[in-house]
Amino acid sequence: MHSPITRYLESVLDDCREIDGGAIATGNAQLERADPDSFAVALATVSGSVYAAGDCDTEFSIQSISKALAYALAIEDNGLERMLEATDVEPSGDSFNEISLESSTGRPSNPLINAGALAVHSMIRGDSAQERADRVKDLHSRCAGRQLNTDMAVYEAEIESDDRNTAIAHLLKSVGVLGAEPADVVDGYARQCSVDVNCVDLATIASVLANGGVDPATEEQLIDGAVNRHVLSVMATCGMYDASGSWIATVGIPAKSGIAGAIIGVLPGQVGVAVLSPKLNEHGNSVRGVAVFERLSRDLELHMMHVAPSGASAIREVTGEDATTVQLQGDLRFAGAESVLATVAKGVESGGRITLDLNHVRTMDDVARRLLEDAVVGLREDGHAVDIDDPHGVSAGTPRS
Ligand code: GLU
Repeated sequence: MHSPITRYLESVLDDCREIDGGAIATGNAQLERADPDSFAVALATVSGSVYAAGDCDTEFSIQSISKALAYALAIEDNGLERMLEATDVEPSGDSFNEISLESSTGRPSNPLINAGALAVHSMIRGDSAQERADRVKDLHSRCAGRQLNTDMAVYEAEIESDDRNTAIAHLLKSVGVLGAEPADVVDGYARQCSVDVNCVDLATIASVLANGGVDPATEEQLIDGAVNRHVLSVMATCGMYDASGSWIATVGIPAKSGIAGAIIGVLPGQVGVAVLSPKLNEHGNSVRGVAVFERLSRDLELHMMHVAPSGASAIREVTGEDATTVQLQGDLRFAGAESVLATVAKGVESGGRITLDLNHVRTMDDVARRLLEDAVVGLREDGHAVDIDDPHGVSAGTPRS
């Protein structure tokens, strides 16, 4: 079946192809050779489906998009506290390669501009530039579900045009925010940026971030959940260079863009998206890429502030007169557990036995678990008979398959 989602993506590309303007990034001789007309979009859901349209086999270097997972890796290596000493998490409002360091501490404003990304790269565990870059590439490969390769021609062109990053690295060293020697850090960072990907790879990587760091295909936790959330927060505020504020207001999807013309977007709990179109606007973001994201956000209601109320849907059915059975369902969090408590409170008024039926619950987070446990303890202390029907053990933390 030709999916309606694929057809929709094709129509979005057709519409946005009419948008022109912008220019391919200059500086790196290899990037300058990109086909300005290549255009692709891919969408990967947290349930593991992938939809793609356009030139999805076209490979390009990952560039700044690598900054997100490199940051995740550095946090896992060093701990968040240590990483926050190295770089702040404030939007800089400056362009990607601006020398924006805090005047008081010398810390880069955030890990997604070059100054921050160089500091982050320097703190990734590894004995050499190659080893640090390989570890970043390995994490990307695991998230993409295939082995990715470094494009040595891009890397060499990167090194030839890296005077500015070298200057930033020296500055970082002078304020004590660099975990290795400047030349070594610039070399490793150039390798990190030169890994080839296609749009499906990037959407698949984004779907891992959308899924709390868990690979939708293998269910393996590839990025720690708390680290994943932190990285997404920084993508939401700092991922689109100096256009991050307007992006989050209009598109509303945590994102990261790179100068090869790709953008990844991550809608937590739903979907990862990637677009490629090499011509960039004045902020360094792909002109057509931004247009595609605006369309998808609007048409598919993907803005992160557009959230369905989740409390009421936690209750599947309430039955019984003398004795009340409350059937719960889905993934229980604070709002769901609260609506269960409110329903149980009504059942209590009738005075009969209360059964919480968890047969249809898939997962419960710690907050929901604590709320329900406290409620059950309180009810029993008050002399009410309460049963919990939990054959799959979800209240003990076992997710239902
Ligand atoms: N390798 C590029 C640089 O550091 C990456 C820039 C980007 O994608 O924003 O200059």
